[in-house]
Amino acid sequence: MDSVNKTVEPEAEGETLLQGLPASPGICIGKAYLVHQGGVTVVKKYFIHESKLEAEKNRFKTAVKKSSDELRQIIRDTPEEFQEHADILKTHVMLLNDKMLYNKSIDTIESDRVNAEWALRKVVSHLKPVFMNMSDGYFRDRWYDIANVSDRIMRNLSGEAPVDIRNIDKRVILVAQDLSPAETSQIHLERVKGFVTDLGGIASHTGIIARSLQIPAVLGLETATRRIKNDDLLIVDGFKGQVLINPTEENLIRYEEQRGRFEIRIARMSRGAQAPAETLDGMKIRVMGNIELPEEVVSVRDHGGDGIGLYRTEFQYMSGNRFPTEFELYDKYRDVVEVMAPKPVVIRTLDINGDKAVSYTLQSEEANPAMGLRAIRYCLKKPEIFKTQLRAILRAAVHGNVRLLIPMISSYEEVLATKQIFRETADALESDGIPCNRNIDIGIMVEVPSTVILADIIAREVDFFSIGTNDLIQYSMAIDRQNRQVAHLFDPLHPAILRMVKRVSDVAKETGIGLAMCGEMAGQPINIPILLGLGIEEMSMNPRSIPLIKQSIRALSVQETRDFIGEALAQSTAADVRRVLEAAYGCKLSDNCYTE
Ligand code: PEP
Ligand code: MG
Repeated sequence: MDSVNKTVEPEAEGETLLQGLPASPGICIGKAYLVHQGGVTVVKKYFIHESKLEAEKNRFKTAVKKSSDELRQIIRDTPEEFQEHADILKTHVMLLNDKMLYNKSIDTIESDRVNAEWALRKVVSHLKPVFMNMSDGYFRDRWYDIANVSDRIMRNLSGEAPVDIRNIDKRVILVAQDLSPAETSQIHLERVKGFVTDLGGIASHTGIIARSLQIPAVLGLETATRRIKNDDLLIVDGFKGQVLINPTEENLIRYEEQRGRFEIRIARMSRGAQAPAETLDGMKIRVMGNIELPEEVVSVRDHGGDGIGLYRTEFQYMSGNRFPTEFELYDKYRDVVEVMAPKPVVIRTLDINGDKAVSYTLQSEEANPAMGLRAIRYCLKKPEIFKTQLRAILRAAVHGNVRLLIPMISSYEEVLATKQIFRETADALESDGIPCNRNIDIGIMVEVPSTVILADIIAREVDFFSIGTNDLIQYSMAIDRQNRQVAHLFDPLHPAILRMVKRVSDVAKETGIGLAMCGEMAGQPINIPILLGLGIEEMSMNPRSIPLIKQSIRALSVQETRDFIGEALAQSTAADVRRVLEAAYGCKLSDNCYTE
């Protein structure tokens, strides 16, 4: 769910409470280690004599060159499993020489006759509102890349040595203005307990990596580097997105206990992770993992996933600066499919644009990107790009158990057009004699209300439905997934959502096609009685939720959930649904929560 827990308990005397964004769950307690103090904060302005302007410009160029050398070195040192993130750094290297930053700074030194630091600061402060006012969250987040790059130049101009995360030799909590993907990838898990940053959104690259490293992280704290000093004692609460600075004895004990309980629970759940998720009355439910990056396949396997229920392939496109080639795609898909075989891997085709814009594909600014040329709409408009991906998927399908999933279908024609392209692609591979497997299931994401309504018609053409509640809620209830202002309305237990899930489930049963849920709704234990009651027998989620959900399933009887579901569907509001759900299942699931 995209909602942000905004509960801030009053801070006790002597301690300071900061509220940010809960980027990665868990609790850690430890000493603060400042990676950098919010960049170079004090920038002095001084004028440069005309005769020295050339030298000043050269000083700037040398700092840029040094920054570029540093980045290239980090890229070279980035371990294989973080190569995707090294691609982001390659973008940073390019940004260093971008006209709007590089040329503008040099022009400003010349025109204003000022020192390089001042010129850079002026240019960056003009760029900030341009990015921050962009309606598209992806582009807004690109501001952090610019801030990151300009901080590096500034540090090199001032001669301030950057902290090398690799040299940290004690167990600490990192505090940074922002952690670049390179810095994050240098984190040694045995030395870093968690991290907190001033910048970054949950959807930022840093947030994505934090979750894949599985250490507690809170981002977007805004003032962390100003309010936290080296060696301050911190409690990082990655569930609530809170940081306590120099906590009271009472809070230390409380959080230490909470941390201990959480770890015991995780350990207990992990022991049962590989066993099947079988209900009390003997029904086996398939619990699978969602992944963004191919490396996460290992996490799904280790957490006991019955397969990959959603492989969000767009991240491979988002981290580079050009379209990946057929071979690059095939190579990654094949890895995932082989690691998971014989378990299924549901590969979703490119779901770009909307909140996942890819800079090199953007043709024109869209006023409403979420309702724009997103996902299958983009692919149908760019068949050559779509075909490249389909070729890679069809080739990877030779190596294991692959299913194809099409995102954001909103009409019957889109399904027909997609299948036509699929056939043409398979025919072309076969006539070229390239090994491929066209006998794979083709399913669609059900995440647009028109598809729910038309489900019976669309079911004629597909092998399975996968319900994407994240977008289904966004599109049916008119709630922008990215917008914190309306996050409190984003509730999967809304009766309208339950009724839509019921309709899709009924159609799947009547027509005999497969049914799964891969939206975030499936990753929360309290929703499981509802999903079982509505007939969902396959669900996919963030890998670390798999053991938790399996344990929840084992505490339930499907028959009981089916007897209960009528009562839930009859409620008028989400709060009413939650009330009857808590009353019937609160005790059974009380041990299955990430939060206290
Ligand atoms: C969804 O919309 O529920 C979904 C699983 O897809 P994504 O979150 O990638 O849009
Ligand atoms: Mg979606």
